[in-house]
Amino acid sequence: MTTIENNLGQIHARIAATCASANRPVTSVQLLAVSKTFGADAVREAVLAGQRSFGENYIQEAVDKIAAVRAMALPGGDALQWHCIGPIQSNKTRLVAENFDWAQTVDRLKIAERLSAQRPAGMAPLNVCIQVNVDGGETKSGVMPQDALALAEAIAKLPHLVLRGIMSIPDDAPGFEAQCAVHKKAAAIFELIKVSGLPGLAQFDTLSMGMTGDLEAAVAAGSTMVRVGSGVFGRRTYCTPTP
Ligand SMILES: *Cc1c(COP(=O)(O)O)cnc(C)c1O
Repeated sequence: MTTIENNLGQIHARIAATCASANRPVTSVQLLAVSKTFGADAVREAVLAGQRSFGENYIQEAVDKIAAVRAMALPGGDALQWHCIGPIQSNKTRLVAENFDWAQTVDRLKIAERLSAQRPAGMAPLNVCIQVNVDGGETKSGVMPQDALALAEAIAKLPHLVLRGIMSIPDDAPGFEAQCAVHKKAAAIFELIKVSGLPGLAQFDTLSMGMTGDLEAAVAAGSTMVRVGSGVFGRRTYCTPTP
């Protein structure tokens, strides 16, 4: 077994154990493998071990990697799903719209409007999550919690996007209880929007939170998608390799 295959097994076991103790079906939590800084070979290895969805932070790095992996033959008509989980500047929206399946870090209407306008006609609508700043100050990315519902209402009207949910990247909190407390804030915003009755929320089903270090707390608080990088691919050295 390769290390990545072994690591994926361990992460799936952690998700399953947490789902069991939280009385949730294991199928209610998806694993997004965060492949930033790792090359196309690492992605291929994960694909061979059954992984299908990948998260990337650095857009140009991701675009090159997506192209490098595209030719892989997958069984049964499977396709890979690429999620943008890094900050999206205005000048990068076109690359995101043309290359990704999901953009999880939308926190401004202007970015959402550009993504919708630039989504190519032949592609399925871009899946979008609103990034919410549940714990930080004004300088952190993410819409402030009190502004999330209004942003959801505006994004849900855009023609080439599908609003899928909420994502958050809280700072490290000390211990399970503190991690749960901050994840529950994101879960509350998710629920508020979900039951709001706004039009355009038929596929609003994703609460993206939890990483290698805090996925148990995130799943206990209701996460439906954990984003795991180092737990799958190993430790990162913080520079972007050529894929
Ligand atoms: C890097 C990153 C992750 C994965 O972090 P790990 O601690 O390596 O699991 C998840 N989400 C976002 C937004 C990231 O930037």
